Amino acid sequence: MNIKIPQIAVPHFWLSNFGKVQDYLRRALREGALHEVGISSLGYPIHAVEYAREGAVKLMVIGGTHGHEPGGVATVMNLIHLVETGLDLADQPHDDLLSVLEKVHLFAVPCLNPDGRTVCPDTFYAQGLDTCRVYACGLQRDGSLIPYESGSEDPLYYFDPNDALFMGGQFNGAGYAINRRRSCDESDAVEVQAVFEFVKDRGLDGIFDLHACANNFAIQARSHEAPYWPLAREWHRRAEKLFKEKGRKLNPLHGDGEPPPPITHHFNSSLFHKHARLYWLAFEGRQGFLGNKGWWPIPTEWEIVDDYLTAIGVFLELGAEGLYAESNREVFG
Ligand SMILES: [Zn+2]
Repeated sequence: MNIKIPQIAVPHFWLSNFGKVQDYLRRALREGALHEVGISSLGYPIHAVEYAREGAVKLMVIGGTHGHEPGGVATVMNLIHLVETGLDLADQPHDDLLSVLEKVHLFAVPCLNPDGRTVCPDTFYAQGLDTCRVYACGLQRDGSLIPYESGSEDPLYYFDPNDALFMGGQFNGAGYAINRRRSCDESDAVEVQAVFEFVKDRGLDGIFDLHACANNFAIQARSHEAPYWPLAREWHRRAEKLFKEKGRKLNPLHGDGEPPPPITHHFNSSLFHKHARLYWLAFEGRQGFLGNKGWWPIPTEWEIVDDYLTAIGVFLELGAEGLYAESNREVFG
């Protein structure tokens, strides 16, 4: 890449820098087992940290699917630190989350897409959305944006990296969109395929996938069958109560409908759901952007992480209650 990535100071608990995440995983784990799940298209390791618990429900939390969404990576690292030490990286307790963590067998993937993460700054906090968009898309050789249109009916699945100055956080280094699948049977992105192969036969009940649209809300995967919809609504109901207690906003469940409108293309959720026979819920968090009243008031960086941790707590709780397993059985037998 011919562009110097701006180095922006972040609080120490905002652990989103890929190199620093690797340092932590290699040096600071005491309880968790570190798995190298695969290698990214540019040669970076993809890790999962396992906190095994005999007989408990197996659940996974994924951060860093999109490289321009550093808060998800920072959150998974705070989750790992919480399991390891009883406190998050800002030394804050999360008693409710900690008690639900004691009931599950957790797999934490801090950064699914290292190629995307390493071409983006450590944070977009207190910056405009336009800045983030440049790093999300990447740049063509003439300096214009790679035409990744997230709302398009005919989305871009691949862009030749030879025609790019750099591939943005929506892609891996080989040019494949990290969360768009032409097929729900396999992934062109080696990172997604590697995590899928790791998950496939491990008997997981559910995966919670962290993203960052700019507001807090969950997305129910539309490829999921009817028995899963009450689960998403129950997640929303419980989460809404907790967000309200903290004086923070949770937007409505995205994609809800009876029946849900069909999807026009696939996300990673379809692949994992269909072939690993599990439930998938995505959560969009905040980035602390400026310039739109919809993003106001701007949260602190710790509040952004705390929102994600709150959302994760509800996801794990429903899993520990056996609700995902019930729906998985109903759909897959
Ligand atoms: Zn995302």
